[in-house]
Amino acid sequence: MKLESYWLDTAPRFTLGEREPVSGHVDVAVIGGGYTGLSAALALAQQGASVIVFEAGRVIGEASGRNGGQCNSGLAHDYGALAERLGTERARAYQRAYTDAVDTVEALVLKERIDCDFVRCGRLKLAAKPKHYDKLARACERLIQEVDAKVEMITPENIRTEVDSAAFFGGMLEKTSAQMHMGRFGVGLAEAVVRNGGRVLESAPVTGLERIGGKAYGISSGRGAISADQVLLATGSSSVGPLGYFRRRLVSVGSFIIVTEPLDPALLARLLPMRRGYVTSKNIGNYFRVTPDNRLLFGGRARFAMSNPRSDAKSGQILRAVLSETFPELSKVRIDYCWGGLVDMTADRLPRAGEHDGLYYSLGYSGHGVQMSVHMGQMMAQVMSGNTAANPWRELSWPAVPGHFGKPWFLPFVGAYYRFQDLIH
Ligand SMILES: Cc1cc2nc3c(=O)[nH]c(=O)nc-3n(C[C@H](O)[C@H](O)[C@H](O)COP(=O)(O)OP(=O)(O)OC[C@H]3O[C@@H](n4cnc5c(N)ncnc54)[C@H](O)[C@@H]3O)c2cc1C
Repeated sequence: MKLESYWLDTAPRFTLGEREPVSGHVDVAVIGGGYTGLSAALALAQQGASVIVFEAGRVIGEASGRNGGQCNSGLAHDYGALAERLGTERARAYQRAYTDAVDTVEALVLKERIDCDFVRCGRLKLAAKPKHYDKLARACERLIQEVDAKVEMITPENIRTEVDSAAFFGGMLEKTSAQMHMGRFGVGLAEAVVRNGGRVLESAPVTGLERIGGKAYGISSGRGAISADQVLLATGSSSVGPLGYFRRRLVSVGSFIIVTEPLDPALLARLLPMRRGYVTSKNIGNYFRVTPDNRLLFGGRARFAMSNPRSDAKSGQILRAVLSETFPELSKVRIDYCWGGLVDMTADRLPRAGEHDGLYYSLGYSGHGVQMSVHMGQMMAQVMSGNTAANPWRELSWPAVPGHFGKPWFLPFVGAYYRFQDLIH
């Protein structure tokens, strides 16, 4: 079993990064070479800006190359609950932002001809308890009435035509959700940046940011120092560099994934005939999908822990047990990959984007950012050109998480709380 991401292991390596140390001045420096940073760099380069991406490790080496592979067109939240909290108008706008975000990914894949098996397969949110079905049905009804969303309910009687498992009690299908090969998409995006005149530096952790003059910034990195008129922080769940303000507002939480050996297509055609993205309705739930080469990818929070090879392997064992409970026929299959990654959570699980102290940022997708990161890269390119209305999250305030100074000491308590909630609801 490889303790590394299937997406990174099965994608070509990005080879167009600059090798020489950098100096001088650019219009825009982007910090972070995940989907947010690369998508922004591509859009900015296409607007004619000189742009350089600083990536601490390898491009898409963190969440963007380590995720569950779902590109979903709806909020992760219960729509009704969000509408109650923020009002219908905002909940509707946020729901639509996710639909737009999947359209953005599709348009980019087509325009840049990225070979990544993008497919609109739909996402099925599975009721893990009978009473969860009623909650999903209420959300579905409101979505149809208020957002005109392309959603429908799959009844408990029909659920086994979708997922041949005794573990589920119906579900809500979001028909326009998509999936793709995350590694091939990310490398294709990085290549498009370079093809359009942008520059990408790998192994270039930014360690210093210093304001010079009016708005410009001096940027020091492991690969040299430059100045830039504008800086975009696209750093996800970062522990590197002078980002204390943001670290107090984001909580890094591990999420873990296993991938099986290639399975018999006939077996998959019975277990998961529609090959959708699947997510379960519990707080500490699971997500799964089939890969282009017929493996089952199965992920979840498993433990409220950070990601490192030992922790990933431990979480992998838990995931393997849940996989076997969900699909007993797969209890003997070989697991070929196991890995983890850090999710950049905000307190309300909604992204945050804007400008702080002259630094632009787009962060906090809270585990639901494959589509939104790509979309926000493009939106932030517009915001940085003066169109602040392009930012769908502009009205959200972002106070620091009380008692949080960068290391999430409280995670075990949060984990215990959600486990208890799953038990009683
Ligand atoms: C295990 C897991 C499963 C997930 N599953 C899904 C899913 O199925 N669907 C979905 O929609 N979302 C999912 N997500 C979330 C999604 O992957 C992320 O929201 C998205 O990839 C975020 O992209 P990003 O570019 O903002 O951040 P990242 O991909 O994390 O990129 C940030 C980059 O910044 C770099 N960086 C940080 N600090 C510095 C510095 N000081 N200098 C230079 N570089 C720096 C990092 O090295 C990193 O490469 C998942 C996430 C994880 C971890």
